[in-house]
Amino acid sequence: MAKPPRSVVILGGGTAGWMTASLLHRRWSAFGCEVSLIESSEIGIVGVGEGSTPQLKAFFDDIGVSETEWMPRCNATYKAGIEFAGWSDRPGHEHYFHPFPTEVDGFTQPRFFYATRARRTGRDVTAHPDAYFVPTRIARGGLAPVAPPNFPFLVSYGYHFDAQLIGSFLKELGVGRGIRHIEARIASVELDKKGDVAALLAEDGRRFEADLFVDASGFRAAIIEGALNEPHRPFGANLFNDRAVVTRTPLPKKGAKACTRSTAASAGWIWSIPLTNRIGNGYVYSSRYIDADAAAAELRAHLGLGEDAELRELTMKCGRIERSWVRNCLAVGLAQGFLEPLEATALHVVMATVNAFLDAWAKDDREAFNAAIARRYEGIRDYIVAHYRTALRRDTDYWRDATGMDSLSDSLKSVITAWFTGADVEQEVLRQDIQGYYSPVSWHCMLAGYGNFPDQALLKPPGPDIAPIDMAEIERFVAGCAMNFPTHAEALERLKEAA
Ligand SMILES: Cc1cc2nc3c(=O)[nH]c(=O)nc-3n(C[C@H](O)[C@H](O)[C@H](O)COP(=O)(O)OP(=O)(O)OC[C@H]3O[C@@H](n4cnc5c(N)ncnc54)[C@H](O)[C@@H]3O)c2cc1C
Repeated sequence: MAKPPRSVVILGGGTAGWMTASLLHRRWSAFGCEVSLIESSEIGIVGVGEGSTPQLKAFFDDIGVSETEWMPRCNATYKAGIEFAGWSDRPGHEHYFHPFPTEVDGFTQPRFFYATRARRTGRDVTAHPDAYFVPTRIARGGLAPVAPPNFPFLVSYGYHFDAQLIGSFLKELGVGRGIRHIEARIASVELDKKGDVAALLAEDGRRFEADLFVDASGFRAAIIEGALNEPHRPFGANLFNDRAVVTRTPLPKKGAKACTRSTAASAGWIWSIPLTNRIGNGYVYSSRYIDADAAAAELRAHLGLGEDAELRELTMKCGRIERSWVRNCLAVGLAQGFLEPLEATALHVVMATVNAFLDAWAKDDREAFNAAIARRYEGIRDYIVAHYRTALRRDTDYWRDATGMDSLSDSLKSVITAWFTGADVEQEVLRQDIQGYYSPVSWHCMLAGYGNFPDQALLKPPGPDIAPIDMAEIERFVAGCAMNFPTHAEALERLKEAA
């Protein structure tokens, strides 16, 4: 087992930098490792990224912080999944919900898989995902995915939160626990004779040495790309979006639903993320198909805003660096890579990277670590690409090109082929061992949610060879389970009271 380093310097105080600092400090401080974080308030943080996957809960559990401590401070809400709207023009498929996995869905999931296969092979059975899953009912019913203590099944959920506030929260927590916080603007990186990073040099002349450096400097990737010249692999061939325009709107009177909403637009999609005090909105689009003014106008029209609405433009560098751990530097967050935020996976990847890195450090197994992180990016990328390739909308050049693109990985081709040839998609996902990135449920929900089935006119009634699918029983089950959950407003109120 390799010993922890004596000192770590993290460049960057965005969410990625502070999450990494917390995790490294928790694991290594007992061995005398000093963790420092350098940031420049002049440069600031990207300030977006307000939705998570369920792994954020694992992060807070890992660093010993309860929901009552962090959620009210970050205006956070619960997230049971993502509502996709307008990605398909198939009647009945204008919306679908991508639920986070819960144990309780283990009862209906096999029937859903069976139904999608029957429908794919020409039988007229109900195969829309929305009928089958409890988180869908929870989010749409204004409930929170927080199971009461006596509910005997695990229910996973993610969060929405204010990106600035979560940064400040983690900073206060980290500094209180002994992470050294340094305000400095780094001007250059000093390498030693071997090519390792020796020190970071600040504009004011200070010099920061460490055994290990973490590049969390955002899209600048100041160490990993800037000094170590690690190549960046762009994802532009099959992920077209490279810009975002963002704005905030007031929360409607009925309050926040426990889900993100992703609405397809003329050259991309628009997110809506409800916090306790506002909604965060953003149009993620491709500058090849729409210019900034037209994208801003489309976002304003979508939200019913006037010309005077305050909007912020962002440029996104989509892709990943070849290796995340190079010499004595680990890259995390936007410095490491970025996949457009359709599935809100960035912070999840930060956690997965740091946890895998800690194990790899102990085993001194850099190659396996770098290969695993690269596979993770490719795995998530494929699922996001599939959103576009299998969407059923062809009304603009953007959608015609996105749904017709042929630059697909072999892995993705095999999953899509399994779907369209009536094969077992679950087995295909397991065979490829890609279920750790997106589960068979996620693949089924997306492909069925868009309505990727033979035309209704071609479907035959299910014959005796098809086991009956009792939709009334499924409805009773889903509704019965959902009845146990509090309203979202009640759950958030309880957190505030307990804080
Ligand atoms: C449009 C958009 C939407 C997104 N939505 C989501 C989402 O829903 N869910 C999700 O998980 N993620 C999302 N993300 C990604 C998410 O925003 C980032 O992963 C997250 O904020 C972490 O960013 P970061 O810490 O890597 O970089 P940043 O927030 O950019 O932080 C970089 C830090 O480095 C410092 N720095 C840089 N250079 C220097 C220097 N020379 N000297 C000193 N300090 C320096 C800066 O001051 C700053 O503190 C989204 C991203 C974009 C662009």
